Amino acid sequence: MKCTFCGDEVKIHKAIIYYQSNGKSYVFCSSKCRRSMLILNRDPKKVKWVNKNG
Ligand SMILES: [Zn+2]
Repeated sequence: MKCTFCGDEVKIHKAIIYYQSNGKSYVFCSSKCRRSMLILNRDPKKVKWVNKNG
């Protein structure tokens, strides 16, 4: 599965899965990604640590 925020491949046992009340779910590789998307509402395209390694 892939991180919703940065797009990195993330193993199921390491993934942070967040379920919204509307039934939508997000997968995150780290709490950093989870915070960036859900709390800080950042745009992945504008975050410099995203997709640094291709
Ligand atoms: Zn991520």
